[in-house]
Amino acid sequence: MNQKKSVIEPIFVVHKHNARTLHYDLRLEEAGVLKSWAIPKGPSTDPQDKRLAIQTPDHPFSYATFEGILKEGYGAGSVLLWDTGTFENLHSPQSLTSCIEKGRIAVLFHGQKMQGEYILIRTKLHHQNSWLFFKVNDEKAKIFYSITSAEPYSVISGKTTEELEKV
Ligand code: MN
Repeated sequence: MNQKKSVIEPIFVVHKHNARTLHYDLRLEEAGVLKSWAIPKGPSTDPQDKRLAIQTPDHPFSYATFEGILKEGYGAGSVLLWDTGTFENLHSPQSLTSCIEKGRIAVLFHGQKMQGEYILIRTKLHHQNSWLFFKVNDEKAKIFYSITSAEPYSVISGKTTEELEKV
């Protein structure tokens, strides 16, 4: 029998956000909101690169398709939709929220750029909201490759950050 999964997978987004400082915002959907982390150096496909990720306030689900210029406020700057797709919470049926409470998340990405398994793990390195984000060494891992510089384009407009800001 062909038993396909009938559950629709939640979506994720990575925004490239050129605000006061350039960073990437990882957003994972759960229960109608986007759980969010700011990653100063962005994601890496190299399992050796442990990237700092600061948990930031939940964003509304509608923000998942946003690309454009934020004119004012704390995050003023350009927001480019760097990647999107679906993900699987590998600790399911535990909710993402309960994984966040426990300080460990394992996610399988099905994005246009983000592929394969990644781990988010809370660290007391900087402050309570500090996490480390890194690639698991699976068939999608790539060393000697910078996904952020090799693949700078928006997945909806095809623009670079520079092009998006040239309005
Ligand atoms: Mn941001």
